[in-house]
Amino acid sequence: MPKYIFTTGGVVSSLGKGLTSASIGLLLEARGLKVAMQKLDPYINVDPGTMNPFQHGEVYVTADGAETDLDLGHYERFTHATINRHSNYTTGQIYNEVIRKERRGDYLGACIQVVPHITNHIKSCIERVNGRVDVVITEIGGTVGDIEGLPFLEAIRQMGLEKGRGNTMFVHLTLIPYLRASGEVKTKPTQHSVAKLREIGVLPDALICRTTVPLSRDHREKISLFCNVPPEAVIEEKDVDHSIYEVPIILRKEGLDDLIVRHLGLEAGGVPDLSAWERMLDIVIRPDGEVEIAVVGKYMALHDAYKSVYEALAHGGIANRVRVKFRKVSSQDVEEKGAESLLSGVHGILVPGGFGIRGIEGKVAAIRHAREKGIPFFGICLGMQCASIEAARNLAGLPDAHSTEFAKDTPHPIISLLEEQRTVRDMGGTMRLGNYSCHVLVGSAARRAYGAEVVHERHRHRFEFNNEYRDRLEQHGFVATGINEDHDLVEIVEYRDHPWFVGVQFHPEFRSKPTAPHPLFRDFIAAAVARAGGEASK
Ligand code: GLN
Repeated sequence: MPKYIFTTGGVVSSLGKGLTSASIGLLLEARGLKVAMQKLDPYINVDPGTMNPFQHGEVYVTADGAETDLDLGHYERFTHATINRHSNYTTGQIYNEVIRKERRGDYLGACIQVVPHITNHIKSCIERVNGRVDVVITEIGGTVGDIEGLPFLEAIRQMGLEKGRGNTMFVHLTLIPYLRASGEVKTKPTQHSVAKLREIGVLPDALICRTTVPLSRDHREKISLFCNVPPEAVIEEKDVDHSIYEVPIILRKEGLDDLIVRHLGLEAGGVPDLSAWERMLDIVIRPDGEVEIAVVGKYMALHDAYKSVYEALAHGGIANRVRVKFRKVSSQDVEEKGAESLLSGVHGILVPGGFGIRGIEGKVAAIRHAREKGIPFFGICLGMQCASIEAARNLAGLPDAHSTEFAKDTPHPIISLLEEQRTVRDMGGTMRLGNYSCHVLVGSAARRAYGAEVVHERHRHRFEFNNEYRDRLEQHGFVATGINEDHDLVEIVEYRDHPWFVGVQFHPEFRSKPTAPHPLFRDFIAAAVARAGGEASK
């Protein structure tokens, strides 16, 4: 039977519960344990797929095609846990399933209530995830005190009772603010947050305290006394200096994994093996150089909107021992100010995925700039579609070429809907989602990167490259180098006579890890390094 760790958060949102949960997973794996990771989100949407990135940040896509919370990205980057559609449940999804069962008559005349029916269903979702693992780590989204989070807290309280104290552990993440004017750290919000949890019946076994200043012994003792946890279970999580990848190391130094192993009676003594992670971190902290990459998109004010893209770019940097500096460029600004002025001096340009017409012409202009100036270019999903539009318009002599997403009646639908998408009415969960295979052409940049003929990558889109234009664009050097043979779909496009220009219909960023950078990101950054070197020697 697996053991269960539940992470909750208090005081404020965005404390880094996802990162902390992922770090716990990494530390336990480093001690030879097998973990499963899961996030329960209290909002009503069935999944975040229909939410605006400004609301919710990026939608993270799993290999089995679920549209999920971006914290799952941290889980996949930090651990080897199997991440799939059972790794993320929302209130909406749970109610949906319970109501469906009620309509079917499965409850045999019972009156359906939050306790026990919804809470039972939540518990079954937690148990569904486990497989054959030693520890299941379940993160509860939101902040203690939120009305909508109550059924989840009630469910984990019940699990604590049912499984027994030594089989469950409650970890509460909280903020210890520092008041600069009086030079004091304040523990009161944490006391209130824990009081709230205890009112519900959840007694935390460890408190992870986010802080900007180190906690003194006195602080730890005070938190221990008022919050009813032993002093050694007051864990300091100080702001990191360089990278979020330092978090596991910080928590290790505070003895969090020892505490967990002891509390849950796990047979995983000794010292965790963090050597690969530390080697990676050493490059992050002490890189040999730097390249600057422009990311040209729609939601540049919100880092989380393209979270996995920035992460994967940083991983590409790690593979090349350089730091990747981001120039976040709004594609609408490119429309107003021109590509030349906003993109001058960058060593690579990336256009990420997206939806909607706003800023499309700016993306096309940025791609033209990359093509004409020989700047390494990486187009992802919408970025690949815009590269196809650019090629059609400016090389193949089709000035009206467009995607039917943006111009329904364009005479040259370079990007268009497949037949199966034309009849779709529901917006949620109906895109082409998750893993599809791709055959990669010998001699292409993609093939050199992958070193394999067949790859599997994750998708999230409705529109596709229109095969009727394939020959015409190939005559102008714009070549399809990756094909899904089952459906005859173009997956990768390239220019052969360009230092590095690759557009992909899928989302490689979801498969990249700091200790295993994605090959396309690795080679894109390598091309950027070459460009930076070329400039330096001029
Ligand atoms: N809007 C485009 C489509 O649906 C691209 C989607 C994306 O970039 N994820 O096909």
